Amino acid sequence: MNMPSATTNPAHHILQSVFGYEAFRQQQQAIVDHLITGGDALVLMSTGSGKSLCYQIPSIVRHGVGIVVSPLIALMQDQVEALHQNGVRAAFLNSTLSFDEVREVEGALHRNELDLLYVAPERLMMARTLDLVERIPVSLFAIDEAHCVSQWGHDFRPEYVQLSVLHQRFPHIPRIALTATADSATRREIIERLDLTGAQQFISGFDRPNIRYRISENRGNAREQLLRFIRNEHPGDAGIVYCLSRKRVEQVATWLTSKGLTALPYHAGLSAPVRQQHQERFLREEGVIIIATIAFGMGIDKPDVRFVAHLNLPKSLEAYYQETGRAGRDGQPANAWMVYGLQDVITLKQMQASSDAPEAIKRIERHKLDAMLGLCELTTCRRQALLRYFGEEQAKSCGNCDTCLEPPETWDATTAAQKALSCVHRTGQRFGVSYLVDVLLGKEDERISRFGHDKLSTYGIGSEHKQSEWRDLYRQLIARGLLAVDLEGHGGLHLTEQSRPILRGEQLLHLRKLTRKARAKTRERKANRFGDPGNSKLWQALRDRRQQLADEQGVPAYMIFHDATLAEMVENRPQTLAQLSNISGVGERKLADYGEAFSEVLNEYRDVEESTQTDTEEETLQLFRTGMHTDAIAARRGLKTTTIYNHLAKGIECGEVSLNEVVRLQQPQLDAIRFAIEQFGGGKRLKPVFDALEGEFPYEVLRCVRSDMTR
Ligand code: ADP
Ligand code: ZN
Repeated sequence: MNMPSATTNPAHHILQSVFGYEAFRQQQQAIVDHLITGGDALVLMSTGSGKSLCYQIPSIVRHGVGIVVSPLIALMQDQVEALHQNGVRAAFLNSTLSFDEVREVEGALHRNELDLLYVAPERLMMARTLDLVERIPVSLFAIDEAHCVSQWGHDFRPEYVQLSVLHQRFPHIPRIALTATADSATRREIIERLDLTGAQQFISGFDRPNIRYRISENRGNAREQLLRFIRNEHPGDAGIVYCLSRKRVEQVATWLTSKGLTALPYHAGLSAPVRQQHQERFLREEGVIIIATIAFGMGIDKPDVRFVAHLNLPKSLEAYYQETGRAGRDGQPANAWMVYGLQDVITLKQMQASSDAPEAIKRIERHKLDAMLGLCELTTCRRQALLRYFGEEQAKSCGNCDTCLEPPETWDATTAAQKALSCVHRTGQRFGVSYLVDVLLGKEDERISRFGHDKLSTYGIGSEHKQSEWRDLYRQLIARGLLAVDLEGHGGLHLTEQSRPILRGEQLLHLRKLTRKARAKTRERKANRFGDPGNSKLWQALRDRRQQLADEQGVPAYMIFHDATLAEMVENRPQTLAQLSNISGVGERKLADYGEAFSEVLNEYRDVEESTQTDTEEETLQLFRTGMHTDAIAARRGLKTTTIYNHLAKGIECGEVSLNEVVRLQQPQLDAIRFAIEQFGGGKRLKPVFDALEGEFPYEVLRCVRSDMTR
């Protein structure tokens, strides 16, 4: 156990005993200490780096309740639930509560029974709430997502501006404002509008080191590339796939579903209940993939999204960074994967050229798209370039992006580019890529001869490269601004000022080579996270147990334990509860609530490995067939009765034992359970079924009946 020693300070003790973490990260300690001693703070830390603890721990340590202002009502319940799981006394106040529920929370506040209270800004600003706050001890105010005060940002919330009242009315209560939005203009606005001039600033980097950035060419089969990526590297993982249009979203979702994945569409054309349901399943079930237009993501705080994939090019690096940022919030390895191709470049360029926005705005948009394209065509570290764009210099290349892991080969493309550009020039600067490539390759074609382009000097001068290589070259020329796309939307290309030095031979051009062979190497992070198949079995067993516990409580699996915690269990194989308590993420409350359940899986697993792999389910079934009662089998095997029922449920599913051998039920009871499962048991969760039956039947029984139904 994590025993408090006389020397540990209270914050550190809470970090270990409540949250189960060994040490503070980066600046956490300094921030926590600063608040505990009554100081104000402005905290800028990247997503997933652990901002929440910065105010949660001081709230617990200091006298009174910590009031957390958060704009995302949908998340409050989850945040509070996560705290409850750790045994922290927390509640929220927002418009989703009934009057009675509000009264109950207020009562708890008066009795000083809460460490943390989450409120929406508009609720806090109500006279009733402010009066209440005046009458109770308050440990601190935390203003989360503080960039919402910025009028120029995407997430502006007018109510946030009023939060400066807090300082005027409660000058002695420390305040902490937190954001992951980096730029200095926003920072200045936060300080000014929230009256935080005297606050100490804690600014740490913007980087998300656990995200691996990867961008590759769309080889005309983006869907297949995506499927291969998911199957090879993310089987059973949660992820988000972004597409540009609703139609494409639907197509990709249907297609992935037909390949056996759980892929749900999400876009503005779906009804609100359907969207809500898909989002809910994404949060609660494991391994759900959301296929979405860019509309999906705001207010999604799922920590274990293992990959974000783009089947289209985002319009800017800001959008790319925000969307990919939804991966790996738990700090575990995650992939930001994208394919893009010639058509993407042309479509976006055209959309932009034909927009009727004022010229000044168009210029900014052009600049942003060019920066995005620049990232795609880069031959050096992607992370360095991304961070540089956001004003952060990183001295070394990162070692965790595709260009670092497999440096792309480059080639001297000057001569080829001259041919490609002069072909544009000689055909009159109005044809698209396909036509131009046909001319370069000397194809016999009715249109080409009609226009007399088979007489041109560029006709047939490109036979040293394949069609795909020429298309690739044209994409890169457009991406680099050496060619521009026409306004009429036919994809016709014309030369730009920048192409002149190349045509005149005054400048060399080095480009990325299309890499086909090198792909094989990317598969380092293989199907399972653990090289050893035994480990990945244990990993799966731990995940199954986690899902089961989550289902019973109707909470998302990550509330029980994060992936990182389970991964550490696989690695360290704790054998006792004391050893389990040393795993990061296992605090006292979770140890008490779940320690046994997970120990059991770990021990069962060790036994299985030792006993030359006798199948643990088979052993239960054999004992059962001899007529032993479930409790007796549990006692004999040193397992919990629930586990024995799980084995039997699997036996029922494969038809090895029958339902009525395992559970005794009257026909009406059985009918009632079946009916409830049909009505409420759509997903994996049994909690709704359990509730619908008013808790009359234990989960073991429900699970067995369900197994019987799925036979
Ligand atoms: P943010 O709000 O900055 O996006 P969170 O507060 O949600 O990040 O924390 C991200 C993850 O890191 C959570 O799973 C959290 O429990 C974990 N975490 C935070 N601090 C620590 C720490 N000191 N040691 C281990 N894990 C931590
Ligand atoms: Zn890199």
